[in-house]
Amino acid sequence: MCRCGDMDKKEELAKVAEEVKKCRKCGLWRGATQSVPGEGSFDAQVVFVGEAPGFHEDQRGIPFCGAAGKLLDKLLALAQLERGDVFITNVLKHRPSGNRDPLPSEIEACRSFLDRQIEIIEPKIIVTLGRFSMAKFLPNALISQVHGQPRFVEFGGKEWIVIPMYHPAAALRNGKIMVAEQEDFIKLGEFLEKINGGGEVKVEKEKEKEEQLKLI
Ligand code: SF4
Repeated sequence: MCRCGDMDKKEELAKVAEEVKKCRKCGLWRGATQSVPGEGSFDAQVVFVGEAPGFHEDQRGIPFCGAAGKLLDKLLALAQLERGDVFITNVLKHRPSGNRDPLPSEIEACRSFLDRQIEIIEPKIIVTLGRFSMAKFLPNALISQVHGQPRFVEFGGKEWIVIPMYHPAAALRNGKIMVAEQEDFIKLGEFLEKINGGGEVKVEKEKEKEEQLKLI
């Protein structure tokens, strides 16, 4: 577990980003314009984890900067949050060509970067956006059944609160998902307010994936 001070956290995150830039652990770097390690506050209370960079992200090196990113900004506002308050990243740090789904081997190759980002930031809440990031923490869950519900997940000797949510791109394609997504972000804001105010919150415990989450 990282025992970093604020400056150390900033430096440690920069170090991860530098390693991502030079990473050749899977073949995705070959087709990518640049890496997209993630961005935001090193002191974030909430870390958002999406799937992989898309076209715009690959062009600019910034996570969630296309249409889904614009929606994410609006959703963050529903939770009384701004981009600068949170940290946003993806399971994969280079773009899969044609926006295809990530391969299990690519997710495994890239795993340590996300694990380290979480370890450094130590957020109060991890929000997964879409099924690939949800599967990292809740491999047997169905997004339609668990979205918006906080879960305790144990790994790396610590209990983390994970809230699975739909990917904003799915909300752009489907009106019903959009409504659910907006409700989930409003609930996220209320949940955060409660835990910051020392209020009582109900969080279910997820035990099944301890072994699958190997935080370094
Ligand atoms: S996607 Fe991840 S594992 Fe693959 S080259 Fe990029 S940083 Fe390395």
